[in-house]
Amino acid sequence: MKESEHSKLSTLRIGVLLPEVLGTYGDGGNAVVLAKRAELRGIKAEVVQVGVTEKIPETLDIYTLGGGEDVAQTIASRRLRTDRGLYQAVQKRVPVLAICAAFQVLGEWYTDSQGNQTEGAGLLNVVTLPQGARAIGELVTTAAGLPLEAQLTESLTGFENHGGATLLGAEARPLGFVQAGVGNGRPGVAPELEAGISSEAGVHDDREISTEIPSGYRAEEDGKPFEGAVQGSIIATYMHGPCLARNPQLADLLLARALGITVPELPEMEEIPGVARLREERLAAAKRVD
Ligand code: GLN
Repeated sequence: MKESEHSKLSTLRIGVLLPEVLGTYGDGGNAVVLAKRAELRGIKAEVVQVGVTEKIPETLDIYTLGGGEDVAQTIASRRLRTDRGLYQAVQKRVPVLAICAAFQVLGEWYTDSQGNQTEGAGLLNVVTLPQGARAIGELVTTAAGLPLEAQLTESLTGFENHGGATLLGAEARPLGFVQAGVGNGRPGVAPELEAGISSEAGVHDDREISTEIPSGYRAEEDGKPFEGAVQGSIIATYMHGPCLARNPQLADLLLARALGITVPELPEMEEIPGVARLREERLAAAKRVD
């Protein structure tokens, strides 16, 4: 029996990759939610932290990656470009949840807050440009009309805080359409960035930052702006929260995929107290700011 098969039968191993650099806003909580929802169903689960200096195992059952700031994100992208562990797991269609900076890093390239372009891991057919204004606040989306609609019948809710606008290529589909908040956003040059470019320590830097959507990439469909991306076994989103505490349907979808079953086949569990209240409260907050 292969190690990956063995681990599914005994203990579900849920990875938190590079927690020192990717984990803003408690994104590590996504793994805790997955483990708890597995245990409440009688499935043993273990959270495995994989630090920046460690080899990424390709035998975990689910991978989670969180958000991060510019420097942290650069370290993460270098690590994920050179270590093939996550790449191998994705080839085997092992579920991956990537939040915010990790969404950008798993793409082909991204631009940071200083306008520097960095190569990503190339696991997602997406690119990230700067946005005209940082997107900060509550985000609500719907999967209506998208491939995951049957599994994600409830709106998704999260907190977004990102300067990057992520555009999807032909191989990536959005996770949701934006109902409140910004979502993946649109490219633009923020005034701070413009100022920084024209006068850094008195030196004129005339780099031109493109705000054009590169050909073959898109930000919306029929006027409906995108949020997140789905490609193969990867689900990426700008939703912090942590995302899975607010969106139990998404957590269960990842668990079912990791176990090789469908969501209705998951053993029943008693819902965690407070989940419904948290969702209601955050959905109401999003309406207020919208
Ligand atoms: N540094 C990235 C951005 O601002 C991601 C931020 C995050 O992970 N919250 O776009």
